[in-house]
Amino acid sequence: MREHLEMIERCGARGVAVKRPSGLDGINGLIIPGGESTTIGKLIDLYGFEPELKKLGASGVPIYGTCAGLILLAERVVGRHGPVLGLTDVTVERNAFGRQVDSFEVDLPVAGIDEPGRPFRAVFIRAPVIEETGAEVEVMASLERGVVMARQGHYLMGAFHPELTGDERIHRYFLEMVRGKR
Ligand code: GLN
Repeated sequence: MREHLEMIERCGARGVAVKRPSGLDGINGLIIPGGESTTIGKLIDLYGFEPELKKLGASGVPIYGTCAGLILLAERVVGRHGPVLGLTDVTVERNAFGRQVDSFEVDLPVAGIDEPGRPFRAVFIRAPVIEETGAEVEVMASLERGVVMARQGHYLMGAFHPELTGDERIHRYFLEMVRGKR
């Protein structure tokens, strides 16, 4: 979470850590970070975040789910738990790259943020994959295993961690969504 806040500040915007549902009041965009989706799901329950996050999504505020955050956004989840927020029309498989491949990095072309000769260095950590996308979902990046970045209107979904490499392009893209420029 700290890394995301640092990236947001480096892009010239103001970031705040949301620790309680009341922290969602007045925000213009939300990043749901990685971690363990089962744990984050329990915290969402415990603090009563679920209705507030659903309201936020329905109000059109851009939400970017990375890794576990992507799992929380999905309507369909393959793995140990079912859907949590169910806001995006995708099927996500947890830990899709297997136990042997806990984490890896790859130079990934990402539609919409690509510059010639500058793919995005994507870090995957026990990452999920998007196995199915609904008609309104736009695929932005894929690996052989499946889709790893996608967008559905004001929702941005990524299987990897863009906050760990110092490359600000995906955070800038999200901020442009927040400013209504994308
Ligand atoms: N494997 C985690 C999960 O299923 C996600 C990992 C991550 O966020 N880096 O929740």
